[in-house]
Amino acid sequence: MKNISVIGSGTMGNGIAHVFAQFGFKVSMVDISQQKLDSGMLTIGKNLDRQVKKESITAEEKIEILGRIDTNLRISEGVKDADIVIEAATENWDIKQELFKELDSQAPKDAILASNTSSISITKIAAVTSRPEKVIGMHFMNPVPIMPLIEVISGYRTSTLVLNEVIELGKSIGKDPVEVNDYPGFVANRILMPMINEAIISLQEGVASVKSIDAVMKLGMAHPMGPLQLADFIGLDVCLSILNVLYEGFGNPKYAPSPLLINMVQAGILGVKTGEGFYAYSKDSKEAVVSPRFKN
Ligand code: NAD
Repeated sequence: MKNISVIGSGTMGNGIAHVFAQFGFKVSMVDISQQKLDSGMLTIGKNLDRQVKKESITAEEKIEILGRIDTNLRISEGVKDADIVIEAATENWDIKQELFKELDSQAPKDAILASNTSSISITKIAAVTSRPEKVIGMHFMNPVPIMPLIEVISGYRTSTLVLNEVIELGKSIGKDPVEVNDYPGFVANRILMPMINEAIISLQEGVASVKSIDAVMKLGMAHPMGPLQLADFIGLDVCLSILNVLYEGFGNPKYAPSPLLINMVQAGILGVKTGEGFYAYSKDSKEAVVSPRFKN
């Protein structure tokens, strides 16, 4: 494989484009917004600068890497030479459904169509295309240039050939692909989200404070960040929506999102992106200060 098309230039899309270009692939990054394409390229440039500073790449390599990334507003242009398309657009079924119909009609007939979705069924996405055996999940972690994992998710009809090709592709960009099957939340979120939910339920029930809950998991389980702080970083709205996917997907009350989480999301308190979640975030300080709504 040589040519990679990445759909979406947001948080994940620009990270995926960055890594493939760094490992010598030609990348075409597509978005519906020119502003998002520009800010995606700006982020890639800044992240490459950091690598130059750390001497993991040279200044010349930075220029070569950027030179391997094209941007495009039109899908037809952006995917016409693709060996694989990796979709990292907004997490919304209507958007993904329309996108995959269009990718199926515009990408070369033998191209693999991958999705970076966190929670939508790969089998359901594959079913809107005429090539379900070539549709697969490639679930990268944020920040993509740093995190080694790719959850590689086989849908019900994904072929073994395509699975093996995608695993080899993941290894060729220095990542550690892990095979999983297509069930709600895959593996990462099926295990992570109930832990976060349980932390929120523990807070709601007054078992311990925000700081104590996070301290137990950091000091006792060697987690680099406590579950409440992690929830703030992921976005409380994102956590709620993934928990709902698990709850509805399995029909099991053990996944029911905590009423406190639901209240916070309904109140527009979404974590780092709104400046407040379980912690309060100010621009000038990196210290985690517990939100005044919760006692220390
Ligand atoms: P984001 O909001 O940062 O970026 C999404 C981009 O998609 C935006 O730039 C938007 O303009 C673009 N877009 C929307 N509709 C489009 C279309 N029809 N064609 C082309 N571009 C379109 O979102 P993100 O956080 O990068 O998430 C992208 C995907 O990755 C989602 O499926 C999400 O579930 C998944 N994901 C996110 C994370 C994370 O930590 N952010 C981690 C793993 C997976």
